Amino acid sequence: MTSRREKDRTIAEGLRRLKAKPGWDPSVRNREQPLRDLLQTERTGDTYVAAEACADCQKARATGDATALCPIHLAAAMGL
Ligand SMILES: [Zn+2]
Repeated sequence: MTSRREKDRTIAEGLRRLKAKPGWDPSVRNREQPLRDLLQTERTGDTYVAAEACADCQKARATGDATALCPIHLAAAMGL
């Protein structure tokens, strides 16, 4: 009996294709949720304002990335 194994293989293949699709990545899924995205944009804006006064964020930006954030504000900006 190979049907069970073939089924598992088919599922694994389907998952692999799904993960290969753009948009599957959880980090970009917010773009597909307009309301949440809007709220997130507002929260991210607040975070960047707070980051202006954060020494760790300034240190992160000193590496050359003007939008860099410290781990705490990065998590906040992502809505965590
Ligand atoms: Zn910070």
